[in-house]
Amino acid sequence: MADCIFCKLANGEIPTKMIFENDKVACFADANPQAPVHVLVLPKCHIESADGITPENSDCVKAVFEAIPQVADKLGIKDNYRVINNCGEGAGQSVKHLHFHIVSGDETLKARLF
Ligand code: AMP
Ligand code: ZN
Repeated sequence: MADCIFCKLANGEIPTKMIFENDKVACFADANPQAPVHVLVLPKCHIESADGITPENSDCVKAVFEAIPQVADKLGIKDNYRVINNCGEGAGQSVKHLHFHIVSGDETLKARLF
């Protein structure tokens, strides 16, 4: 989608260091990390938010969840991370391209409700 920063990062139009990538999924570091490990995993297809997931596009969401353990393995955080999605501005979503935060490495994360 034109003018979507995450589409541009995911498809390479804006260069970034990919932590994990395949044909359906991209994963890169969050620009404003809230924990020692803080990355974003997203589908390459543009879905605005969790509210926009449908039977027609859920294949890319499935691919994201299949990628998450591989990302965790690569980052050395298996069995010790949180996966967070903010849906809508009311819940704090600031970039309107579906993405999942993976955060780890901070003891206080256990008690935090993002
Ligand atoms: P959310 O508030 O759930 O929509 O999360 C958006 C996240 O994207 C925030 O944690 C930002 O720090 C992060 N972010 C925004 N722009 C970029 C960018 N160009 N590269 C990496 N992360 C970004
Ligand atoms: Zn997008």
